[in-house]
Amino acid sequence: MGLLFEKLNQDIRFIEGISACINCGTCTAICPAAEVYDYQPRAIAEIVQSRDEDALRELLAGDTIWYCGECMSCKTRCPRQNAPGMIIQALRSLSIETGLFVESEKGRQQLALKRMVGESILETGYCVHFDHIDTGLFPEQGPVWDWEKANAAKILPKVGANYQGEGPGALRKVSQDDLDELKRIFEVTGGMEWFSKIEEHSARKAGEMGMESGTGKDSEYFKSVFTKNDNTRHSKK
Ligand code: SF4
Ligand code: SF4
Repeated sequence: MGLLFEKLNQDIRFIEGISACINCGTCTAICPAAEVYDYQPRAIAEIVQSRDEDALRELLAGDTIWYCGECMSCKTRCPRQNAPGMIIQALRSLSIETGLFVESEKGRQQLALKRMVGESILETGYCVHFDHIDTGLFPEQGPVWDWEKANAAKILPKVGANYQGEGPGALRKVSQDDLDELKRIFEVTGGMEWFSKIEEHSARKAGEMGMESGTGKDSEYFKSVFTKNDNTRHSKK
């Protein structure tokens, strides 16, 4: 058994996600991501079942494992009760663990997710919060957020928000105790280790590409991974 397959086979999501795929293609037929991208969960199930190390490495270093939306529609229709979406989750973890995620455009975008969403959760308690976002990075929604921030006192109470307030309500302030607990959850579940690996391998890749990865959202590498989206390669023709 090769090293990559051995590691994959230790992930409970992989163990529970596949059991004798018969290559029927039902998962691809139901998959919403396959409608948009050149992407087939059936093919991924076939590759992991083959245990071919070279093919596995190519998968971990490629774009396709990042196309899945984790909706789990495939799980509901597979005649063998497989769950390609869970296989993908295990593959994504392994891609980050091995650092191979930085070898693809979609994989490199994990840095943007970490700094935009992951850090926002730890700092504010929200996945997306306009106090945490650099609105200049969002050409369409950014100006709307700027306007909402400038007019927060006037408009937010009208929609029942409790902006930065104590007690219940949308946009309420999340207490420091709760933020500390969130951080502990990230620590014990491996989330913080994941963040470190994303930063470490992104810094390495940035160096290879002749850029600085920095620590915030204004470095050349961050802006490159955040904005680059090769639609001609990823979208179905
Ligand atoms: S639906 Fe299930 S059995 Fe069919 S190709 Fe997909 S994973 Fe394999
Ligand atoms: S979980 Fe992923 S592979 Fe499965 S149907 Fe949803 S998008 Fe497709």
